[in-house]
Amino acid sequence: MEAIEKLHISTARALLDEGKITAVDLAQAYQKRAQEHNGELNAYLEIFGDVITQAERADRMIASGDVHPLTGIPLIIKDNILIKGHIASGASKILENYVASYDAHVIENLKKQGAIFLGRANMDEFAMGSSTENSAFGVTKNPHDLERIPGGSSGGSAAGVSGDLAIAGLGTDTGGSIRQPASLCGLVGYKPTYGAVSRYGAMAMGSSLDQIGPLAKTVDDAQILFEVIRGHDTRDATSLPDDVFGSAREVKRIGVPRHFLREGIDADVLAIFEQRIEELKERGYDIVDIELPNITYALAAYYIIMPAEVSTNLARYDGMRYGVATPGKDLLSDYTQTRGNGFGPESRRRILLGSFVLSSGYADAYYRKATAVRNQIASDFKKVFESVDVIATPTSPTPAFKIGERSDDPLNMYAADIFTVPVNLTGVPAISIPMGTVDRKGSALPVGMQFIAPQREDESLFSIGRDFETIVTTAYAQ
Ligand code: GLN
Repeated sequence: MEAIEKLHISTARALLDEGKITAVDLAQAYQKRAQEHNGELNAYLEIFGDVITQAERADRMIASGDVHPLTGIPLIIKDNILIKGHIASGASKILENYVASYDAHVIENLKKQGAIFLGRANMDEFAMGSSTENSAFGVTKNPHDLERIPGGSSGGSAAGVSGDLAIAGLGTDTGGSIRQPASLCGLVGYKPTYGAVSRYGAMAMGSSLDQIGPLAKTVDDAQILFEVIRGHDTRDATSLPDDVFGSAREVKRIGVPRHFLREGIDADVLAIFEQRIEELKERGYDIVDIELPNITYALAAYYIIMPAEVSTNLARYDGMRYGVATPGKDLLSDYTQTRGNGFGPESRRRILLGSFVLSSGYADAYYRKATAVRNQIASDFKKVFESVDVIATPTSPTPAFKIGERSDDPLNMYAADIFTVPVNLTGVPAISIPMGTVDRKGSALPVGMQFIAPQREDESLFSIGRDFETIVTTAYAQ
């Protein structure tokens, strides 16, 4: 039998169903690995005490024939997704002791299946960052090189799965936070069409951009997780009806926005990207040069729209209703002390930026202009999708950088999101799939290929994704 920590969801499923292993065996193995290795990775903020009890329940479900794709499968969950009775901190000091009083929609679905929650994953505070360095509880390390960041903001989920401390996990993606860490940790990361997965019970960052999605070792595993967490939910007003999603169209034409792949992109990343594009061509895909004329403004528009929404969403953390409070001498100083002590520097920066771009006199110049750019980018995508089935770009312009390398340089940090934010601005689905590694002083650092599909055509991503996995496996077998 394959080592337990190397199993995928599908291989673990078969062993569980054949009775070769029990859910308790699986849970114990992962719990032990997590306990032994979390000291070095800091992927988990907490490993739950009830893992074995959960697994015993899954074994009872299996014994009684109540079996689902995720029954007994051990997962790591980003700490901004509520699990009733457990702390959900968003990796912020201000919610350090907050215990969730209900389950997120995705957690309800996973519980019905009998999935196992191993623990809460570290992340950038309230999902704001690209390196997990903004966590109030220490940085997470990249399992491929412990001196480097795992990406962010779902860096804990990515490092946990990549380091074999969980079979798969959940993250959230507002501007790349599933795909970028997946890319830097050698995983598959998938951001569904906006509205495919209910945001009920996920801490809001930028509500018009946020989606929950899977981080997994294979495209199959990402799809299995997605099928479980998706679905219409009346508690999220932006949740889409189930019947609006198309079936997979055959992917034939792949668009590459070469005009956007010139500046700020690492030469080694670009070389691997071009090589894989060539291999896709050899496999029979049509590769088409496309123009997305306004995509160069996406990063700027995102860093206006997102903080505007952040400043509104984070207003609820005032220490009055829940979370940590630092009392002052009057009401105003209650607020300033609580929020001043409770939020880290990046959260404070974005709250200030967001309040500024929405303020009277500036809203037209910044917020409304950014919204207009957003609409323009959406119509550019629409037009391009009339002639191609998917778009391909690298997921991240560089491999994982060193811990501390960009922490004092927010603009350089934001540049990590250049290829991922246009996807959130336009609500389309995208997947990051490992495309190879680049060498940096003896470390082989993973990098990912991003495929983007039209709205509600998520299925196409899985079909091209599976084919792409084969191409990469063949390339590395040679
Ligand atoms: N890195 C991006 C940011 O800091 C994306 C965050 C996210 O997707 N949650 O805003």
